[in-house]
Amino acid sequence: MNLEKLVRPNILAMKAYSSARDEFEVNNQVVLLDANENPFASDWNRYPDPYQRQLKKAIAALKGTKVENIFLGNGSDEAIDLIFRIFCEPGSDNIIITDPTYGMYEVSAAIQDIEVQKVPLTKAFELDSDKVLSVINENTKLIFLCNPNNPTANLLNEGEIKNVIENFKGIVVLDEAYIDFTNRESSIQWLNDYPNLIVLQTFSKAWGMAGMRLGMAFSNSKIIQLFNKVKAPYNMSILTQNKALELIENNKEKVKSNLQVLVHERARLIDALSKFSMVEHIYPTFTNFILVRFNNHSLVFKTLIEAGLIVRDRSKALNCENCLRITVGTPNENELLIDVLSKI
Ligand SMILES: *Cc1c(COP(=O)(O)O)cnc(C)c1O
Repeated sequence: MNLEKLVRPNILAMKAYSSARDEFEVNNQVVLLDANENPFASDWNRYPDPYQRQLKKAIAALKGTKVENIFLGNGSDEAIDLIFRIFCEPGSDNIIITDPTYGMYEVSAAIQDIEVQKVPLTKAFELDSDKVLSVINENTKLIFLCNPNNPTANLLNEGEIKNVIENFKGIVVLDEAYIDFTNRESSIQWLNDYPNLIVLQTFSKAWGMAGMRLGMAFSNSKIIQLFNKVKAPYNMSILTQNKALELIENNKEKVKSNLQVLVHERARLIDALSKFSMVEHIYPTFTNFILVRFNNHSLVFKTLIEAGLIVRDRSKALNCENCLRITVGTPNENELLIDVLSKI
């Protein structure tokens, strides 16, 4: 891979904005008259650390990686947007995604005027790496793989993923938003072997912090430096940085036990769903949601809404006819769901 050839020339050439806080590490001994801040002390009157160094140290320890291999964003959605802006030339470059998959890749592509090539997953929603590799052309910059995949909930085959990474000279983005719900190790450990790999994770799902907007990208330090060059200088607020640090340090056990509850509830829901005659198929899940094919999904969907239960209609996604995507809730919420379904 030739990183300089992959990056948009204007991004390679530009000089990053140099913020006041870039130049000196702040400590309590200095008087700060450099950033036009309001001097009266509160928990938020100063600009935040642009590189979130303390938080990254905690995340590096958590994930077994280094600070220089981490980008933190306002949700993974910020990381996805930046990846497009770093690598994709509007109007001429293209990307490859699987079909079906997470909708944001296509939205970010559309914002940047990037063509999207969709390669269908098999009927069992498995990755066909040779099919993916066969549509690469000289303007293909990115391949997005979501593992486990949303909305299909399955894990992609590791050999198929590696075949894509090893035979593509562009960037492979591996979205691991649901990795904590699997018993599989993260591909962060592959970063040393694959310079063209970006792994995405998030605090929105297993960590229960969707409202804080905290997403992660892991990659080699050269790619992380590009993220830092293109991102807004103060892209993560002091409130998010401090609260996330506190939760990582103090809430790990609670997160772990909640995760165990969800995994247990997932099995319980599958068991209950499998007994309903209107359920045609329950797809294997390695996430906190279940993709279910009903014999009359619109009736189920409508009935659930009338009972105040909102699930996601995925019936229009490729090979997901009649499918609803159901997020695993608390034990009480799941009980309510089962109860409403049993009355249909
Ligand atoms: C939920 C989800 C995310 C998380 O996005 P955030 O912006 O971090 O909340 C990322 N990728 C996939 C596939 C998801 O389902």
